[in-house]
Amino acid sequence: MLSRAAVPAELVAAARAGDARALGRLVSLAENGGPQLRSVMRLIAPHAGEAQIVGLTGAPGVGKSTVTGALVRTYRGRGQRVGVLAVDPTSPFSGGALLGDRVRMQDHATDEGVFIRSMANRGHLGGLAGATPQALRILEAAGFDVIIIETVGVGQAEVEIASLADSTLVVVAPGMGDSIQAAKAGILEIADIFVVNKSDRPGAQESVRDLRTMLAMASFAAADWKPPIVTTSAAAGEGIGDLAGQLDAHRSWLSQSGAGARRRCARARAEISVIAVTELRRRLGGLPGEGRLDDLAGQVARGELDAYAAADDLIGA
Ligand code: GDP
Repeated sequence: MLSRAAVPAELVAAARAGDARALGRLVSLAENGGPQLRSVMRLIAPHAGEAQIVGLTGAPGVGKSTVTGALVRTYRGRGQRVGVLAVDPTSPFSGGALLGDRVRMQDHATDEGVFIRSMANRGHLGGLAGATPQALRILEAAGFDVIIIETVGVGQAEVEIASLADSTLVVVAPGMGDSIQAAKAGILEIADIFVVNKSDRPGAQESVRDLRTMLAMASFAAADWKPPIVTTSAAAGEGIGDLAGQLDAHRSWLSQSGAGARRRCARARAEISVIAVTELRRRLGGLPGEGRLDDLAGQVARGELDAYAAADDLIGA
């Protein structure tokens, strides 16, 4: 049993041995930041995993949680360990009754090969891009084979998901105007695979046709991955095998084309920038009400100093 005061090394060792509570505490550290997170990230760096990171996004109600649950079952059937991070971009709080909890309620509650966690959008570094990369690294180091990040497709969140995932699924459902919405929101750029869920409902074929038309208008180079359209009826588990097959195919393409390594580098670059810029801001006293920046702001406001000179002073400090 882990003590409350377990140090990062103990937590990491326990999480890597399959202790879900230790893993949960590490993910909380990723969310909240704090001095221990640095030690954790240093300890897990050598365990950068081979996990397949799957992003899953779409409008509310299209069946994201149901698709996630069905995928989890499929991967478990193959004996793979699956982590799910459900990120609610509309809530500043984590651990609430979110997407992931609905999945958890269903049938993975007692399965040690599944870890499901809801995360707040606002990490210590701000935004999905802040805490999620660290949480992903923690899950990878804990040895999960597949990690699904699920988020509601609103605003910036879906673009951020795509930048974190190896493979991004955009889920639509018939009769919700999603496919047209999708085209508008530039979702073509982020989708590696389109999922038309609720294919048991009227209008599914129209949604497929809309997406095909949209894809036909896009130009792909010969070497590019062309996003397939998979129809599923996730509630009945139908089409999920096809979906997993397309995810496998995308994974092979990522590794053969070199695009996978490029994506991971781009992700690490963004991760470093966010940390560096946040740290820089903190050092410069960027928070109102503290530090050198306030002194300088007063001088600039009173006309005693120009803003360029003030900025030089700040950076030099
Ligand atoms: P989310 O908000 O995108 O996560 O959607 P949910 O997974 O919570 O699903 C929303 C509703 O659609 C629920 O009532 C599901 O039972 C239902 N649903 C999910 N998949 C299917 C499907 O394949 N067919 C039908 N008819 N309903 C589905």
